[in-house]
Amino acid sequence: MDTPASKGSQDEYRNAEGILRVVREGLCHRCGACVGVCPDNTFALRDGYPVVVGDCSQCNLCVEVCSGLEVDYPYLGREVYGERGYEFGSLTGPVRSVWVAHAADAAVRELGGSGGVVTAMLLHWMRTGRVQGAIVTVDDPTEPARAAGRIARTEADVLRGARSRYTTAPTLAVLREIRDEPGPFVLVGLPCHVHALRMLQIRKPQWRERIPFVVGLFCHYALPWEGVRLAGETFAPRGARLVSVGYRDKHSAQWPNNSARFTYDDGSEWRSPLTAPATFNVLSRLVPLGRCLMCADACSEFSDLAVGDPWIRGPDGRWKFRDPRGHSMVIVHTAQGEEWWQKLMEERVVVAVPVELDEATQRGHDSMLREKKERVGFRLRWRKRLGRAVPRYPGIQFPRPSRISMKEEFGFLLTRLLAWSSWWQRIALRVAFSRWGVAWVNWRRRRRRARPTSVPLNPTRP
Ligand SMILES: Cc1cc2nc3c(=O)[nH]c(=O)nc-3n(C[C@H](O)[C@H](O)[C@H](O)COP(=O)(O)OP(=O)(O)OC[C@H]3O[C@@H](n4cnc5c(N)ncnc54)[C@H](O)[C@@H]3O)c2cc1C
Ligand code: SF4
Ligand code: SF4
Ligand code: SF4
Repeated sequence: MDTPASKGSQDEYRNAEGILRVVREGLCHRCGACVGVCPDNTFALRDGYPVVVGDCSQCNLCVEVCSGLEVDYPYLGREVYGERGYEFGSLTGPVRSVWVAHAADAAVRELGGSGGVVTAMLLHWMRTGRVQGAIVTVDDPTEPARAAGRIARTEADVLRGARSRYTTAPTLAVLREIRDEPGPFVLVGLPCHVHALRMLQIRKPQWRERIPFVVGLFCHYALPWEGVRLAGETFAPRGARLVSVGYRDKHSAQWPNNSARFTYDDGSEWRSPLTAPATFNVLSRLVPLGRCLMCADACSEFSDLAVGDPWIRGPDGRWKFRDPRGHSMVIVHTAQGEEWWQKLMEERVVVAVPVELDEATQRGHDSMLREKKERVGFRLRWRKRLGRAVPRYPGIQFPRPSRISMKEEFGFLLTRLLAWSSWWQRIALRVAFSRWGVAWVNWRRRRRRARPTSVPLNPTRP
């Protein structure tokens, strides 16, 4: 069998100890995979991180699937895209088609974080018996700011998963529950979830049949749940406790302006005065993002198809898709993804229009995509120079950042100084969401919008 470029028997990361080292060195993004795959149930989750609670028979599977430690693009590329493999260097990964879509069912569209496309797909595949269940992410019942994995076996379970939780999601810990089931299941996951699953499918081919279909989400970063809780506490009325977080709350404002809402045990609410992208951009400056700052995958490049928001600006600088009921953007990566997506359109589960890849990247996600490829490469080089641990990306060369990217990176690094202590974070949160802070953030966003976008890196098509 083809072997990964690293993780051999001489590797310094081995077995349960290796996983604890990944956590110690700040490389863990809390995907839960090590917990979910371990045949001995050696790990449990504490605050989303794996902790050892049992014996380890030293099979090394947990380390082999750990995408916090390594993402081997060429190796995963051969698994998903065949012998032609995968060429690192495009902003989005291989692309067959790009769509802006929404769930045909108005109620499902309303429930979704964007256009409800993911929930509509899952409901349809379950109703038609194409899959037996879905691995989704729901609110963690034990901690309002946190998310948790769930094997959705009923429509009610799928509906519980609808909407994005922009936070730590050790979703793959639930793989443990389906280890002895034939499936088929579908996974909905962030790029880091998808990397871990693909590695598992290579190491244990029975997982290919068990989870034959993978729906990815776009991902800029996931806020650490501790940071979300801190924000919730900062805006709490005196003596009140945070009881729920609505990350994308379509009830308080319609898409694309739906944004964060904190609810407290005295019945009161705090609603972000900024739109979702602005709110999460502010929060991302004020809380430590850890491993997410070293992540190079924005569009779930190894999923069958990936879903995000259609952040595309028209020539007037306004969002091109701004129907308040919501829209999702779909990038179809694989041949299987194309086949399933075509069926969803034919069977009128989703309503979709094609869009040009260049439009989606250059007039929409450009800055996020560039951050993932160019600025991440810069960060990795610097962390290495400073003797800090970095994730491994064997066999790939990160492109040199453009001048625009470097300017953005320095601005970003400066604002990150605010994340140093919770005392600073609280003050910065109060200032950022005050009347003046909101006016400043909106002014900055308008100015940025007026700036021309840059030329994309060489997108690849299979
Ligand atoms: C952490 C995070 C970051 C994201 N960043 C971006 C971005 O930068 N740009 C962009 O365009 N889109 C981003 N998205 C995707 C976007 O928010 C929507 O999830 C996507 O458009 C699908 O919308 P929908 O209405 O079709 O899905 P819905 O029908 O609302 O279904 C959402 C699905 O997402 C799953 N889910 C929710 N939270 C998580 C989680 N934390 N981890 C794994 N799965 C989860 C649920 O299981 C559910 O099945 C992000 C999503 C998340 C969770
Ligand atoms: S038994 Fe295998 S998967 Fe479990 S902790 Fe040990 S090495 Fe990791
Ligand atoms: S990144 Fe995932 S697999 Fe790796 S240690 Fe963290 S939870 Fe485990
Ligand atoms: S940025 Fe990367 S590591 Fe962080 S949650 Fe998103 S996919 Fe995972």
